[in-house]
Amino acid sequence: MTFEELKEILTNIKAHYQNFAIYDYVVEEWYKVLKDYEYDDVMESLVDHLTSDNSNELPKAYQLVKYLTSKDLKKKCENNRYIVSCNLCDRWMSLDKFDKHYDKCLHEFGRKFKNTKRV
Ligand SMILES: [Zn+2]
Repeated sequence: MTFEELKEILTNIKAHYQNFAIYDYVVEEWYKVLKDYEYDDVMESLVDHLTSDNSNELPKAYQLVKYLTSKDLKKKCENNRYIVSCNLCDRWMSLDKFDKHYDKCLHEFGRKFKNTKRV
């Protein structure tokens, strides 16, 4: 997103959380985290937060992009034509990486599941 778009998002947060102070260092830090993501995606995350049970807590930059796909990755996936999500860990990736990932993820998942069962 652009710097202007970031400012719009921060103003939006300020509208809902009066305690949120937009200092220069806050803007810089948020920009570091959000610049690789698209405005619309982050805005959607923000609305999700505002309508969630945690809406009384100030949203954090990292929290807003946690489940988003960065612009770079989106582009890469466009170039590879297909993007898929792993149903075990919810990560997004291009199709050519999926097989390898899925084997690894399934192994991890199996281990986690076994550990949970033992407890
Ligand atoms: Zn996975």
